[in-house]
Amino acid sequence: MAEIKKTKAVIMENELLCDGIYSIWLKEESIAKVAKPGQFLSIYCKEGSRLLPRPISICEIDDEKTMLRIVFRVAGAGTNEIAEAKKMDEIEIMGPLGNGFFLENTSNSILIGGGIGIPPMLELAKNLPGKKQIVLGYRSETFLVDEFKLYGEVIIATEDGSIGTKGNVIDAMREHGITDGMIFACGPTPMLRGVKSFASEHNLVAQLSMEERMACGIGACLACVCKSKDKDHHSNVNNKRVCKDGPVFYADEIEL
Ligand SMILES: Cc1cc2nc3c(=O)[nH]c(=O)nc-3n(C[C@H](O)[C@H](O)[C@H](O)COP(=O)(O)OP(=O)(O)OC[C@H]3O[C@@H](n4cnc5c(N)ncnc54)[C@H](O)[C@@H]3O)c2cc1C
Repeated sequence: MAEIKKTKAVIMENELLCDGIYSIWLKEESIAKVAKPGQFLSIYCKEGSRLLPRPISICEIDDEKTMLRIVFRVAGAGTNEIAEAKKMDEIEIMGPLGNGFFLENTSNSILIGGGIGIPPMLELAKNLPGKKQIVLGYRSETFLVDEFKLYGEVIIATEDGSIGTKGNVIDAMREHGITDGMIFACGPTPMLRGVKSFASEHNLVAQLSMEERMACGIGACLACVCKSKDKDHHSNVNNKRVCKDGPVFYADEIEL
């Protein structure tokens, strides 16, 4: 695994994609050169009262320009501060964190993203070979759709039915008769639970990326454990640390 660096990055671009969703390109050579799809960054706030870094997935990696892209929703004070950063501002980051997706040799993949779990699927879509069906679930307003279309067939579900299937990603997969391929998914826990049971119903292998609340980001504090099938060698209980052992797990490794 690549060495984790705590370092300063320079904001090269900060764009509002849609209501409350921002896209930021960061210039930072040492992380961009080694990061993999599905890994994440810990982003530090300047405001001293917000001590803990905010985990944000890597949406795109440009190792030639040595840049990393993050796409995030303003959820509270920390992400609000990051959203206000201006071009050429410096920001402290740590990464690359987590294990990322396992790029198995598959000719047929189903990529599933829900809400703010959509961004990390973009770098994965770029890296996976073969046929890709990309299922994206939104509340209402969509983002990143045209960028995903460059890499595969895009299927959309919205909760309010304004675009695509009315409902969630599982409803969209059933409507489009998707039943075959290696599943890669990131999104809220109820969505991952649905994906896990869809995978077992169709006898498919699934990799799930979990967005558990976390503190240290490097496996030391055990704030982000999830229930696992096997005992963790670190804590000797049926737990896995989402930040270090994950955030990506095979569906049959974890209980949801
Ligand atoms: C591995 C990982 C990758 C993530 N990737 C992204 C991403 O690519 N884009 C993105 O927009 N968000 C992502 N998140 C969620 C993001 O970390 C939180 O939204 C952020 O930390 C909130 O910080 P805040 O100070 O703005 O809000 P806070 O004031 O700390 O919290 C505001 C609200 O956000 C919720 N929240 C806080 N932390 C998390 C968390 N870790 N996960 C889920 N909800 C949280 C709280 O429950 C609360 O309702 C990721 C989380 C993890 C663990």
